[in-house]
Formats: sequence, structure tokens, C-alpha cells
Amino acid sequence: MFNTNDTIVAIATPQGRGGLGVVRLSGPDSVAVAHQLLNSPEPLQARRATFGRVVESVNDGLLRAVDDVVVTWFAAPHSYTGDDVVEISGHGSPVLLEHIVRLSICAGARMAEPGEFTLRAYLNGKLDLVQAEAVGDLINAVTPAQARVAMDQLTGTVTSAIRAADLTLLDLIAKCEASLDFPDEGFHFIQASTLGRTLAGIVADLDRLLSTAGQGRLIREGLVVAIAGRPNVGKSSLFNALLGRNRAIVTPVAGTTRDLLTEHIDLGGVPCLLVDTAGVRVAPEAIEQEGVARASEARRSADLVLLVLDGSVPITDIERQLLAETTGPRVICVNKSDRPPAWSSRDEAWTDEAVSTSVVSGRGLGELRDRLARTIGLDPAWRESATLSNVRHIGLVQVARDALVRAERALSSGATEEMLLVDLHEARGHLESVSGRRTVDDVLRHIFANFCIGK
Ligand code: GDP
Repeated sequence: MFNTNDTIVAIATPQGRGGLGVVRLSGPDSVAVAHQLLNSPEPLQARRATFGRVVESVNDGLLRAVDDVVVTWFAAPHSYTGDDVVEISGHGSPVLLEHIVRLSICAGARMAEPGEFTLRAYLNGKLDLVQAEAVGDLINAVTPAQARVAMDQLTGTVTSAIRAADLTLLDLIAKCEASLDFPDEGFHFIQASTLGRTLAGIVADLDRLLSTAGQGRLIREGLVVAIAGRPNVGKSSLFNALLGRNRAIVTPVAGTTRDLLTEHIDLGGVPCLLVDTAGVRVAPEAIEQEGVARASEARRSADLVLLVLDGSVPITDIERQLLAETTGPRVICVNKSDRPPAWSSRDEAWTDEAVSTSVVSGRGLGELRDRLARTIGLDPAWRESATLSNVRHIGLVQVARDALVRAERALSSGATEEMLLVDLHEARGHLESVSGRRTVDDVLRHIFANFCIGK
């Protein structure tokens, strides 16, 4: 079981410097701890920001100023966690904020574990588990689409879709159980045909929800895109162009990129880890040989390969080999179209796949982005509501759906209510695990351990 009777403290703002930084306290002694820190005769008032000075006592009761702060008390239960929460907003210096945390610990608070504020919000019924997980996703979002899916989940669209299925199921279970209570009379509180129709309705609703999972996972988890090709075709130039800044070194010297370079980009809403790799050739020395080996591994493990060819020089055997090897999802880019072409992609079997680009003139780069986004598979008609994106939710909804399909089959082969109830209860258990109404402590620990401290 989790202890929620003590008072926890942590820095709630990101590491590093900023105009402001916030130390957050949650628990029954939050206000008392804040009063000990502050050199202020005025007591804090709920929901009122109070200007004050954090002080520490040095020798002989002398008080030394630590920081000027604004303190806000959110009285239980009207706070993020449901406990008394005090937010101390000071200057955004890690040294100062850590000092305030230390003083809070001396005054009786305990350092919070990762995600412990959100865990308390969940344990106090302020959020269900789907919403608590959405908080983590929202903080970690790197693309606007990711933030929208997470915010949608936080406002409860996934919860309500699952709750609706759960309530219908509860009603079915109640009626089947009531029928069992009157075995002698042979009275049925629900007709088999109504039961079958209702079950089919719930399965259809869960299928609709599951049909959003592919897009949801794509948006939440993103993809790895590896840029491949032989040296000097323009891989690093394309990497920089897609990134929108000069991250990779570009030179006319072959073999400049030796290690893998990675950066996050947003391709049509999908967060992609773009990997620039060493050019594929028989490398003259050990460092480049290692780079070529890593490039090969990156191509194999990527979700999508962007294969770059140079249209201004004849195609080589190594390129033909790369074309043959990249059998998974790929986009072929024939670069340097600003120069006279040395060959025509029309003569090749993969011609329909190729996008012609010039990093120098910028021609074709928009089309390349569109092609990458299309190949990644984000549906432009994707609706931004009740999208399942978290693999835990997807798995549980899937097994709940499977149990209901089993119940449907059993019903059509004449099973009794008693037999049906096994599957109906199983389905309900899975649906309740999504929202956290039935979730074991280990699962909770795992979920919240992935949060950052202070959240
Ligand atoms: P990489 O070795 O495949 O990563 O290739 P780089 O991006 O380092 O580019 C190699 C050379 O080709 C550099 O001198 C670039 O300026 C040049 N280059 C890259 N793209 C183009 C292009 O579209 N047109 C022309 N003319 N030169 C390019």
C-alpha cells in the first residue's frame, strides 16, 4: 500500500535556469512547513498568492534571506493532488530551489518519488488512471498532435468511452445474476436475443475504439527514420533541411559522418527520431568502418528508411545493393536535381517511389516531407477524439473485447447465464483496470515510476 499521510516536496519546474521556479508541497503539513520557511507574520490564505521571504536561521537565531517568493495554498480537497498543496514560486535557479526543498525537508516534509504528486491525485480520486497517464504524456509530448491526444485523454474522452461500455456490461451482469437467483421459476430477467444484441453493441463500440489504436500509438510513440545512402549524396544536407537547422556537418569530403546523429522532428504530427548515418562504402579506416557498421544496424532497426541517391552521378553497385536490401517501408530520394542528371530513374523498377530533390534550391523538399508523412501512415482524416494511444489501454480493451466475443459465441450455442457470467465478469475486470478501478500496486508503481520527480 502507498503512504499518503506524510507531506512530500519536490521542484515542479524543469531542471535548469529560468525566470521562475516552483517548489511544490503536498500533504497534511504543507501549510505548516511553508509557515516555518517564511519570515512572515501573515498566515497563508487558501487560493490567495502571498508574497514572502524564505529565510533560514544561522548562528544565534540570526535569520538569513534565501529567496523572495510568492506562495499559494490550494486547500484540500480543491488541489491537484486532493491534499493540501502549497506552491512556492521563487527565482528559477536550481541552487535556490534545491535550498528551499532542503529547508522543507528540515521542516518535516519528505522528498517526493517520481510521479508521486500525480499518484496522490489518483489515489485521492482526483484523476482516474487513464487521466493520470495522460498527464505524463502531456508533459512528454514533443509534437502538437501528441499534446492534443494527451489533453483529450486528460479531459476524459477515453474514460467516458470505456465507462459507457462498462455500464452497459454492468447492467447485463446484474440481469444475468438476477436470473440465476430464481432458478426454480426459470424466470429470465433478460431475453437471450436482447442479451445477444447488447453484447454485439458493446463489441462494436470497443472495436471502434480499437480502430483508433494504430493512429494513436503512432502519434504517442512515434517512429525512427534512418537516412541511408553512399557517401556525398546529400544525406546530412537532407537531415539538416528536414530538421530546419544545421546540425550535421556538411562537406564535399566523403566519409564526414561517422557516428549516428539523431534529432526529433515532427512529420505530419508524428514525432520521428531522424537518424543520419555514415555513407555506405568500403571504408578506408577503422573509425569509418565502425560508422558503416552502425549505419547498417540503424537501417535494419528503423521503422522507415529514407534512401538517398545522387542523380548527378552514375548509380553504383553499392546503391543497387541498398535498393535491394531495404525491403521494409522506405522512401527513395534522388537528390542534386539542380545538376544535369547522369541517369534516369524512369529506367528503374522503383521509379514510382522516387522523390526528386535539391537541397541547394529547396526543390522537392516539401514533397519529400509529404511522402515521408504518407509512408509513415498518419491518416489525414484522423479524428482527434477518444483515441487509444497507450499500449496498456489497447491491450486491456482488446482482451475485454475477446472475452465478450467468447460470451457472444457461448450464447449462440445455448450457454446458461452462469457460464456467460464468467466471460462478462472477465471483460468488466479488464475495462476497470484501464481506468484503475481495479489495479494492483505493482502496475501503479510501474506507471508512476516513469514520471519525472515533481509531477
Ligand atoms: P552525405 O555525405 O551524404 O551526408 O552528403 P552531404 O550532405 O555532406 O553533402 C555532400 C556534398 O554534396 C556537400 O558539398 C553538399 O553541399 C553537396 N550537396 C548536398 N545536397 C546537394 C544538392 O541537392 N545539390 C548540390 N548541387 N549539392 C548538394
